[in-house]
Amino acid sequence: MLSIKNLHVKLEEEDKQILKGVDLEVEAGKVHAIMGPNGSGKSTLSYVLSGKDGYEVTDGSATLEGEDLLDLEPEERAAAGLFLAFQYPVEIPGVGNMTFLRTAVNAQRKARGEEEMSAADFLKVIRAKAKDLKIDADMLKRPVNMGFSGGEKKRNEILQMAMLEPKMCILDETDSGLDVDAMKLVAEGVNALRTEGRGFLVITHYQRLLDHIKPDVVHIMSDGRIIKTGGPELALEVENNGYADILAEVA
Ligand code: ADP
Ligand code: MG
Ligand code: MG
Repeated sequence: MLSIKNLHVKLEEEDKQILKGVDLEVEAGKVHAIMGPNGSGKSTLSYVLSGKDGYEVTDGSATLEGEDLLDLEPEERAAAGLFLAFQYPVEIPGVGNMTFLRTAVNAQRKARGEEEMSAADFLKVIRAKAKDLKIDADMLKRPVNMGFSGGEKKRNEILQMAMLEPKMCILDETDSGLDVDAMKLVAEGVNALRTEGRGFLVITHYQRLLDHIKPDVVHIMSDGRIIKTGGPELALEVENNGYADILAEVA
């Protein structure tokens, strides 16, 4: 599904190398987790995959189902089936949440050569999905993320993901700032989307989210590289011992 090879990325503005050769293959139907200390490049990886400005790929490749992602505009990457749930969701004044989602869903459908969703169908679907995530009608009418609490913003990211039905979902620290109940809602939202055809990359600083979203593979990232890959037990090792042991072992 997602194939990253030897990815090297530097900042455009300064001569600072952030990703120093990332290799990663996420198969359809699998959940891969990336953990790692602050500043190791996890968010940078998700930004570069989704096409955010300010980064320069100096080597390597990233493909989605064989299609070169790095060549595409951000909206083309979305249309190809890539979705990123932000670590810091953006507030969009003046744009209603529901209008935003309906526009995004229909743009996505158009890009895939599918018919637009009728207003009635859209309402039915969004109300059901919002209810599952305990997002009330008022939050659907307000401008995107404006005045939402941290937890509400993160749940709104999952609502976007559920509505867009992407092939490859990247969640960047969606658990940070969530209380236990909100985290369970988010995890349930993600688990409901787990299908054979869909891949997930779950970036998290803490192991606790992975109690609820059981990963197939866990990677540890440090200083712009994936330094260790294992099963779910690797997340427990981090929880119990921190990163120091793993960093020392690799060094
Ligand atoms: P993580 O998500 O693992 O905490 P980040 O990808 O946010 O790590 O950051 C990796 C490193 O790159 C950090 O040292 C961070 O300060 C730096 N960095 C990332 N983006 C920028 C930027 N736009 N300007 C300056 N430094 C940046
Ligand atoms: Mg960070
Ligand atoms: Mg980050």
